[in-house]
Amino acid sequence: MLPTTADVIVIGGGVMGVSIAYHLAARGQKNALLLEKEEFFGQGATGRCAGGVRYQFATEINVRLSLESLPMLERFKDEIGQEVNYRKCGYLFILTKPQDVEVFRRNVEMQHRLGAQTEWLAGDEVRRRLPLMRLDDALAGTFHAKDGLVDPNSVVMGYIGAAQRLGVRALNNVEVIGIQVKNGKVDGVETNKGAISAPIVVNAAGPWAGLVGKMAGVNIPITPLRRQWLTTTPLPEIPADFPFVIDFAQSLYFHREGEGLLTGMSNPNEIPGFDQNVDEAFELVNLEAAISRMPLLEGAGLASRCAGLYEVTPDAHPIYGKTPVEGFCVVAGFSGHGFMHGPISGKLMAEVILDGRFQTIDVSALDLARFEENRLIREYNVV
Ligand SMILES: Cc1cc2nc3c(=O)[nH]c(=O)nc-3n(C[C@H](O)[C@H](O)[C@H](O)COP(=O)(O)OP(=O)(O)OC[C@H]3O[C@@H](n4cnc5c(N)ncnc54)[C@H](O)[C@@H]3O)c2cc1C
Repeated sequence: MLPTTADVIVIGGGVMGVSIAYHLAARGQKNALLLEKEEFFGQGATGRCAGGVRYQFATEINVRLSLESLPMLERFKDEIGQEVNYRKCGYLFILTKPQDVEVFRRNVEMQHRLGAQTEWLAGDEVRRRLPLMRLDDALAGTFHAKDGLVDPNSVVMGYIGAAQRLGVRALNNVEVIGIQVKNGKVDGVETNKGAISAPIVVNAAGPWAGLVGKMAGVNIPITPLRRQWLTTTPLPEIPADFPFVIDFAQSLYFHREGEGLLTGMSNPNEIPGFDQNVDEAFELVNLEAAISRMPLLEGAGLASRCAGLYEVTPDAHPIYGKTPVEGFCVVAGFSGHGFMHGPISGKLMAEVILDGRFQTIDVSALDLARFEENRLIREYNVV
């Protein structure tokens, strides 16, 4: 039976929604309701993401989010009771353009100042660390040993289970189709199963957050953009400690996945939209670029492939907090790196809902109003 009222409704059961639900319950707000339109939780961007977690970003706010969020993933088993398989293989950014070298030098200085110990690598050191790759053009690189990979499904299941044990109701197959607003205040939601009233509604609908915003008459500038990856059959040549490698100029990445390799690449010509089918023509572009960097891939077979949606904002930073409709909040728009910031974002949203302000990190500059007030924040380090 669908409840008819709740204190807080969270729309979307991806990493953001489940983290908010857990953090609200952990703070004592148990009459929260999580609504997910799909049959299972975590089938949106979260379930299709590459699972990468990193400290290496180009803006202070993103580094600060990582400095809080990644330790939460390290402590996940102890705090939430679920193993999430954090593999600290490190991210190794390969830089092949002089202008990127300059920007990354400044980024590394900023990361050091904030306490993220990223290493600077000379071109020869990059080649020495990656003997299986063809890297004649590498000018330099950066490496952070605690960057790595975490299992997205385990994080979602861990938060859902913990939230439910604390009393949260989490429902699948419930699609929000309208948002009720009265006198400028949110009053509840319409779903495919009936109406539910609530004084607080959180839009955690990921790539669909713009559509959900429209239901309340709020413009949330989030563009869905397809991104995809593939995995290979086993490649025994790849060492167990092979890092998450990013050829920054090509937006091409590789990491170990099971006994094979996962590779993905961003299509600069992708047209915004909700298509989640693999683009086979671009898959070939990805494969060619990957083989030319790592010739041994020529002999590998295709094991699996996946396409999903980035949730891109005009400045590639997320949107946190209030909207012009009182009680209607948003946490979305992580622009391709939101999985890793899910834990801290749920905590921050619980703070703004229960305390009226962000406590752990001040993310108030990442408000929705910045787009109208021209206060954009640029992130150079988007993959
Ligand atoms: C190919 C790919 C690779 C990526 N790699 C990484 C990576 O390595 N590291 C990283 O940190 N991030 C990565 N990301 C980004 C990351 O996946 C997202 O930033 C993050 O998962 C966003 O989480 P979310 O909860 O906001 O969105 P989602 O996981 O999409 O959750 C939103 C949920 O809302 C539900 N929903 C939508 N509308 C409604 C409605 N009307 N009613 C009810 N429910 C609704 C959807 O079904 C969905 O389950 C990647 C993304 C993609 C696509």
